[in-house]
This record gives sequence, structure tokens and C-alpha cells, in this order.
Amino acid sequence: MTNNPTQLTGLSQADLISFVADLGEHAYRGRQIFGALHQRRLRSLDEITELPKDLRAKLNERATAATLALESRYLSEDGTRRYLMKTRDDFPVETVFIPDERRDTICFSSQSGCPLQCSFCLTAQLGLLRSLTAGEIVEQIIIALNDAYGVGVKVRRGINLVGMGAGEPFLAFESLMKALRIMADPKGLHIVPRRVTVSTAGVVPRIRELATIPDRPHLAISLAAATDELRERLMPINKKWPLEELLAACKEFEKSLRPGERFTFEYVMLEGVNDSDQQARQLANLLNRHGLCAKVNLIPQNPAEPLPYRPSLPERIESFKAILESKGVHAFVRRPRGRDIFAACGQLAARSGANSAQRTLHQMA
Ligand code: SAH
Repeated sequence: MTNNPTQLTGLSQADLISFVADLGEHAYRGRQIFGALHQRRLRSLDEITELPKDLRAKLNERATAATLALESRYLSEDGTRRYLMKTRDDFPVETVFIPDERRDTICFSSQSGCPLQCSFCLTAQLGLLRSLTAGEIVEQIIIALNDAYGVGVKVRRGINLVGMGAGEPFLAFESLMKALRIMADPKGLHIVPRRVTVSTAGVVPRIRELATIPDRPHLAISLAAATDELRERLMPINKKWPLEELLAACKEFEKSLRPGERFTFEYVMLEGVNDSDQQARQLANLLNRHGLCAKVNLIPQNPAEPLPYRPSLPERIESFKAILESKGVHAFVRRPRGRDIFAACGQLAARSGANSAQRTLHQMA
């Protein structure tokens, strides 16, 4: 195999057809490989036994079906699973599978580490290692689906994806959009953009760009504060794109909403930092002033030692929520999932263990 084999999972069906054409093969071979990798979710070219042996050998010389290697899998008492994987160049990648009565969700990462330095998030401590490729994003979903349902087993109820794992998806924009196009293919995973929500810390030009893409995923925006002064402290990206610019872009984005679609603001609740009644009023006023009818998800901070924060108390969160609602802002409290295995929001830091409250740990061979 060459040093830099082509990552076949990062190719669309059309790309794969031209890839095999270069090897002198018919288009149907490209379609066959695409179906094997994405619909049957096979992880090795040798498993595609309908391909002639010499073609498999030829492919193995220059391409690979699997660039992520699963290192460990952690199972939470609430059923959430966290996968810790490594890229070929040895960077950590984390993915979380969140089962739910109605529909299961996979939370994927867009970068290994993250450059944004949000003060309440553990991933920030890794710094940016690198952005992931389209193939690496797609593989995370394949690995999680195979583990949760069995290799190639059809997901009866469908699946939701959220780009809320490690990294800033809008700093890996091209890979992300390419991965979404590949995953939407009905001959493959067939997960359409309407089933996908991407969360940004506020990369304004990309919010504006996303609004222009016809078949785009849903958008969530991490706010964490309603004043520039506090938001700069919590999320340094606010220095580059302050609230006024961010909310103006959101207003613009609103024009692209489809019937019944809303977008979401995420507000991590930090005890004594951003959770007072006055701050609730500031948040409601800010959104109302911009005429935004988005909903707000209140996320109790997931404790992440050594970060100097604690989650707001449930009564505080309820009071905060009541104030938002009294001012016409729809608010929901998000239930934390997988905290015990470091799988919850802001806890992805490539930790190779369970949380201090030790739970079932499944090491994969
Ligand atoms: N970079 C993107 C996506 C990753 S973070 C973004 O910022 O949106 C996904 C969500 O987790 C964000 O809303 C973030 O505010 C939230 N989050 C980060 N650390 C957290 C923590 N310790 N507890 C709870 N939520 C956290």
C-alpha cells in the first residue's frame, strides 16, 4: 500500500466511479464499492467479495476503506456509548451514540481537538490537532452504526446526526459539507441533511454561507452569554465575531428557514456565572431586539475537571427558563447524557477512561 492511500469513504459515488475508471474499471464497480462501504457498512476492501480478486488487490495497493481505528468503547449507565478512535496519523477522534425512545442520535466530531478555547469546555484543552477529512467524518457514523445495530443492519427508525462533538464544524466546513453529501446518498447511508444539526460557536461568514445552500442541515448556535463582556471571557471567538454581528447573521439565516423549521441557541448554564434572573432578561431582550424567534436549549454544564465551573442548580435553571418564556422566548432544558463516561457536551477530551464515578467500562479488543 502507498503511504497516502485514497480514503474511499470520503468519495461520493461519482468520485468513486471516476476513481475506478482511472483503474480501467466500469462504473458499476464504483457503484458496487460505494454500496458495500456505505449501505453494507463494510470496513475492509477484502470483505467486498463480489469484486474480482485482482481488482481488490489493485485497490488495496492505492486505497483504503478504513482510516479510523477504534481504540476503546465506553458504555454509560444511561445507554450512551462513547467511541475513542485514532486517525492513521495518530490523532484522537471521539463519537457518541445516544439512544432514545423515539430516535437514536449520533454526535460526531469535526476536528481532533479544537482551537476555540471556550473556557467551560474540556476539548479546548487539547488545542487544535487537526481538522478531520470528509472520510473521517463519514467513518465515525459507520463505526457507531455498526456497533449499535450490527454491521450493515438497516436502521429502521432512521437516525439523527449532530455535529456537536469535538471541534468547530464551521472550521472544517468543506469536509463537513462533503461528508453530508456522501451520507445523504440513497444508495449509501441515506441520512439526509434534514436529519442533521450542526452546532457552531459563531463563525459568522459560514453561517451566512450555510444559509445559501439549498440542501443544508439545521443550525444550532452556542451562545453562553448575552453580553459581549461575558461572552468574550467564556468564548474568545466573540472577540472576532461579537454578538451584534453574530445575531445579524442569524437574522439573515432565518430567511432560509423552511416551513416549521426553527434554529436553536445553546446556552450552557454555569452556576453563578451566566444564570441569574437578570442575565435571563438580558438574553430574552437580546433575542427579541433582533426579532429572532429561535428556541433556546439550556444545557446544565457538564462538570469537567479541572475547569472552574459547576452546573447551575435545577431551581436556578427553572427560574431562568421561566423568565425567558415570560418574554416569549421558547426554552428547553437539555437532559445530560453519558456524563459518567465523559461523553456529554464539553467532555470530549480523548480521555481513556470513565468518569470518576466509575462505571461499566468496555475495552474493545
Ligand atoms: N464548536 C461547536 C460544537 C461543539 S460544542 C460549538 O461550539 O457549538 C457543542 C455544545 O456543547 C456547545 O453548545 C457548547 O456550548 C456545549 N458545551 C461545551 N462544553 C460544555 C460543558 N462542559 N457542559 C455543557 N455543555 C458544554
